[in-house]
Amino acid sequence: MAEISRPLNVYFLPFLAQGHMIPFCQFARLFAARGLHVTIITTPVNARFLQSSIEESNALGHHIQLHTVRFPSDEVGLPDGIENFFNVTDAPTGHKLYEAAGLLRNQVQPFMEENPPDCIVSDFMYPWTAPIATRLGIPRIVFNSFCLFAVCMISAHNRQLQSLPPGLCNDHDGDNSGGPFVVSGLPETITLPLRPPKRISELLGSLIEADQKNSYGLIVNNFNDLDGQDYINYHQKSTDLKVWHIGPASLMLRNILPKEDLHPQTNNEHDELIRTWLDSKESNSVVYVSFGSLCRFDDPQLFEIACGLESSGCSFIWVVHRESKQNNEEEEEAEEKKTWLPKGFEGRMKKENRGLILMKWAPQELILNHPATGGFLTHCGWTTVTEAVSAGVPMMTWPVFVEQFYNEKLITQVHGFGVEVGAEEWNSGPYDRRDKVVNKMKIENAVRRLMDCGEEGEKVRRKAIEMREKAGKAVEEDGSSQRNLTALIEDLELFCK
Ligand code: UDP
Repeated sequence: MAEISRPLNVYFLPFLAQGHMIPFCQFARLFAARGLHVTIITTPVNARFLQSSIEESNALGHHIQLHTVRFPSDEVGLPDGIENFFNVTDAPTGHKLYEAAGLLRNQVQPFMEENPPDCIVSDFMYPWTAPIATRLGIPRIVFNSFCLFAVCMISAHNRQLQSLPPGLCNDHDGDNSGGPFVVSGLPETITLPLRPPKRISELLGSLIEADQKNSYGLIVNNFNDLDGQDYINYHQKSTDLKVWHIGPASLMLRNILPKEDLHPQTNNEHDELIRTWLDSKESNSVVYVSFGSLCRFDDPQLFEIACGLESSGCSFIWVVHRESKQNNEEEEEAEEKKTWLPKGFEGRMKKENRGLILMKWAPQELILNHPATGGFLTHCGWTTVTEAVSAGVPMMTWPVFVEQFYNEKLITQVHGFGVEVGAEEWNSGPYDRRDKVVNKMKIENAVRRLMDCGEEGEKVRRKAIEMREKAGKAVEEDGSSQRNLTALIEDLELFCK
């Protein structure tokens, strides 16, 4: 553990989405557990979401506080309460929220100038924190919520795009349906099922490139073995940015909680019901289905998922965050009659005690860590992947947007602890119009491959357990992630001397 002569004062600035907010808060708590003084800067609704975790840390004697800035609802024309992308269901609202996130600078900068910290840990979605750090003469550490493997893939794809003659390059515009697509120049040949959308590669590529120029280093919510030394070396060769693998953050956090909190606790009636239901199931018999906090499927896609799950014969917990309809009457009918489910579906599932449909925030870590959960149909959001790996749950991969297709390849091709469903479309973001539906046969097939106790499923399950063991080692007292956290803090202390 690092010797700290004066507690470093670090500000954390998480982006307004759960896949960023959750690991950010975990990092903040890990820093505080090492004696640093930590402040998380966020807006009122997000602060309320983080409050109980922060209190849990402070009860252990750690020093962590929330600094709340006003959410600029009026300036961007958003109703009160929408301060996180989890509450957004359409593109125009998403754009307003994105604009509001940029406007936070107007409050954050004066606060930082009046109360300068020793270091900023910033989300990469806030490029405006770079000039603030430069003005204050302090290091800016960046977090982008990706794994390093995905960062390498995005950079390699961009280099590929840049090497194409301009005419050919334009042919790729908007074409995200072609495939398979080989990303070259990496430690191994990675074949993606679809061509990455040029727009998203360029956007992410430019943010990553800017970070490489304007940051002191990058924190990755991952551990060395999962990204793999080949990709860590590859990244090191292409940039001199310092990188610290500190994760899985959720697993590291469990090491600092009192023993009685080691297993995720249920904290309300809703969660208790889920746990009781899982307790009634055999080990490894339940499929958990969730597409994260952002992705909203339309009704025809939900219908196919329901059919696929029913015909797989497996028990399931299915988290449904629906895309809402523009027309109020249609929406009311869909809500009331559940027109997105096959006729009689709920009745049959209830009779057979086979499935739970959760329409609100699901206690994901509780579900993943329950022995009954044997497989996870996932969109491959990176925070989710780290949680599934920590729980040793093999995955059925169905990436939807941004870098999730790269994560799928790390899971299936590089490490083999998942099977691919066969995603049909690579969207730029969660609110893109989807033209294709993944059919029930593909879904049933993926579930059977993993859950039917056949040779393939058992092999994939063994790989998931092996990776869980490696994750466990990384977060032990002398594990690689703990050593990396120590190295980062020592580096900052040296900088601040
Ligand atoms: N999550 C959850 N319950 C839900 C939906 C999401 O606990 O109903 C959590 C999940 O455990 C993870 C985060 O939200 O910590 C989602 O992050 P990820 O990067 O996987 O996906 P995103 O939501 O950004 O697509």
